[in-house]
Amino acid sequence: MTRVILWAILVIVLLRAVSRLMRGILEGMGHQPRAGGRRAGVPLARDPVCGVFVVPGQALTAQRGGTTQYFCSEQCRQAWDGR
Ligand SMILES: [Zn+2]
Repeated sequence: MTRVILWAILVIVLLRAVSRLMRGILEGMGHQPRAGGRRAGVPLARDPVCGVFVVPGQALTAQRGGTTQYFCSEQCRQAWDGR
């Protein structure tokens, strides 16, 4: 009889762990697009040459007329410089 109770407890604990794990996975999956959205919410700069959005902290920059332009690559920066 005690063995049955122990098994029942084990099964309940196991199910609870599994459901928590599943919820964690589902939340993790649900969070990723949201995290992506949050990243998109970070003020991004637009590469004026190819139109790609870049993260200002990681992008190449060029100054002109007191404004900073951000570029995805050296080619874009040179293309913009050559204009
Ligand atoms: Zn570019």
